[in-house]
Amino acid sequence: MKSVAAIIICNMQLIGHNYKYAVEQIALSLFQSDLPEFISELRKLPGGGMEAITTIGEHIRSSPVAVFSDINEQVKAIQRALKLSFYHAAVEVIGNSPPWGAVSGVKPTRLVLNGVDLERDFFVSSERAELCRSTAKYAVTAKNSLEPRDVVLYVGIPFCPTRCSYCSFVSQSVEKSLKLIEPYLDALLLEISATAKLIKERNEKIRAVYIGGGTPTTLSANQLSRLIENLYDKFELSAITEFTVEAGRPDTIDWEKLRVLKSSAVTRVSVNPQTLNDSVLNHIGRRHAVDDFFRAYSIVRELDFDCVNVDFIAGLPTETLESFQSGIEKALTMNPENITLHTLARKRGSSFNEHGDTSYSSGETVGSMLDFAFSLLRSNSYSPYYLYRQKFTIGGYENTGWTLPGKESLYNICMMEELCGVYALGAGGSTKLLSPDGKIERSFNPKYPQEYIKEKLL
Ligand code: SF4
Repeated sequence: MKSVAAIIICNMQLIGHNYKYAVEQIALSLFQSDLPEFISELRKLPGGGMEAITTIGEHIRSSPVAVFSDINEQVKAIQRALKLSFYHAAVEVIGNSPPWGAVSGVKPTRLVLNGVDLERDFFVSSERAELCRSTAKYAVTAKNSLEPRDVVLYVGIPFCPTRCSYCSFVSQSVEKSLKLIEPYLDALLLEISATAKLIKERNEKIRAVYIGGGTPTTLSANQLSRLIENLYDKFELSAITEFTVEAGRPDTIDWEKLRVLKSSAVTRVSVNPQTLNDSVLNHIGRRHAVDDFFRAYSIVRELDFDCVNVDFIAGLPTETLESFQSGIEKALTMNPENITLHTLARKRGSSFNEHGDTSYSSGETVGSMLDFAFSLLRSNSYSPYYLYRQKFTIGGYENTGWTLPGKESLYNICMMEELCGVYALGAGGSTKLLSPDGKIERSFNPKYPQEYIKEKLL
């Protein structure tokens, strides 16, 4: 451990340590973008040992540092004490206990799987700890179903018909980027060939395929067909148990495209309304109506896909508790096999955040929305099967995938829990391969379609 006098970064002053990342993570997770000024100090005690002290205004809290002979364990103990002292001071400032307590990571199920007691060690609420424990059971089952050389495959289509106001994903003008679809597909087909060769050399077996976005059904029926035929042509896909296409925006879904998916043995399709309130859809720039969702959903049902996922977001601008509740109730009458519940995140780069739109729900309302949805989902036989946290979510809440019995998505669990290698093709793809010693090797594609095309085609 290096001795550091004092480092001042933005709102944070570090004294006696330089564990900026650990402190920043817990600070952002509890205060999001409204970070107060604070001091994080690591102090040596006169009789030996150390303590972590956080000062936020008049609130000063300390946590003792446990002592370990192993240097790596000692570093973890210091970071943990720094986070806990910050957490205790922050709770006094905020005036209530955040749902995820002192957990700053995005994958809290990992802690449960490593035997951590979330309530005792991280002050997580009993509801969130239970949510996490239920979810972790699916990770264990998925892990047991995998062979050592199993991998999953992701193909990214980063195009959408318009940009939702809460999205920071599509940064270019949508009209301009749509012109890139054809060269993008050409580039993708090259990456598909190269990856197929690599998977063969490594003697790996693909277990699930996921075409996500953006909105993959922004592609025409012909383009979808060309892409999927290529996947079947280049990869050995006889062992897959699941093939998802995230159709996403209902305004991009029609019979012709869905027939292509059905005839290509796609098993799982997402149709994502995000809300069943027309005025909210209009406010967030989705440019489709609730009826478009019902129309798209009925096509998916008529074509008899094995599993349909429906996404909702709690806390959208102008959404009320009542309209959110009524949306969830309506969705449940349609019996989708999966429902994914996101919490709105105030992402940098999203237009609603940049325009200072403050009509999103309060943390308290989002908590009530999620409580209502969780209770209704449980009483309709759904269980949470994967979850993750994001920065800047309203109230610090999470995103959770819910499933009817036996319909959980293997891809989502593998991806979230890093249970096997993930090949991620396309712009923004982040491939994670597991080496024999269990380490994760990552490689990244260029983030934007234009750069990706340049890298692959030129
Ligand atoms: S559909 Fe998704 S990726 Fe596309 S603009 Fe909306 S939020 Fe962003």
